[in-house]
Amino acid sequence: MASPGESRRAELRASLGAVRARIAAACAAVGRDPAAVTLVAVTKTYPAMDVVALAELGVTDFGESRDQEAGAKVAEVERIQDGRAVDWHFVGQVQRRKARSVARYAGAVHSVDRAELVTALADARAAAGTGPLDVFVQVSLDGDPGRGGVPADGVAGLADAVATRPELRLRGVMAVAPMDADPDEAFARLAETSAALVARHPGAGAISAGMSGDLEAAIRHGATHVRVGTALLGRRPPVIS
Ligand SMILES: *Cc1c(COP(=O)(O)O)cnc(C)c1O
Repeated sequence: MASPGESRRAELRASLGAVRARIAAACAAVGRDPAAVTLVAVTKTYPAMDVVALAELGVTDFGESRDQEAGAKVAEVERIQDGRAVDWHFVGQVQRRKARSVARYAGAVHSVDRAELVTALADARAAAGTGPLDVFVQVSLDGDPGRGGVPADGVAGLADAVATRPELRLRGVMAVAPMDADPDEAFARLAETSAALVARHPGAGAISAGMSGDLEAAIRHGATHVRVGTALLGRRPPVIS
């Protein structure tokens, strides 16, 4: 199969239009420029052909959360795309032993939440020699370490560690809203954490926040990167792990 099926293409065109309209409306409501919000299409569990179809529709940034799946998909997209590049964002928890692999294909890692990962990613990037890797420090907004992220008071230390490594480029903060909580309250806290980080690292003003269910709230609170899966690609089957 050399190209995505026409009906899937039409489906993705419609869902992309709807997501872009939601982003535009959310930006308009608070007087922000939609061009300042990067849409990261989270394609986990979906095939390379969907990435290609979305890329043809103008999407440039794609997110994945598991290294094994992502590595294979990136290679397949590269084959199909024949040189037309897309940017890959790693948004899931990174195991240290996967850092070398992730650092090879990712342009950005949104989920850096501990010092050993800073070292592992920087060393891997140095070995790959492919230029700096964009890094977001993942902030835990719910105090549940199982879901990844550092508590807000751990952000400065981790950001300082990132900033010491020339192979990494500190972009800002990332978070997932707590389950069963008001996303506005959570993203308002994230905005405060972001402001404190910018006071310390002026170039690190990016905020990766907002998914299919809460992207409007994230945009209200300054998100520069929204990570959208379900609303673009459809409901994922439950992950069995
Ligand atoms: C899967 C995932 C998303 C996308 O979530 P949807 O609700 O499907 O839009 C965003 N961020 C992270 C970290 C994810 O793992």
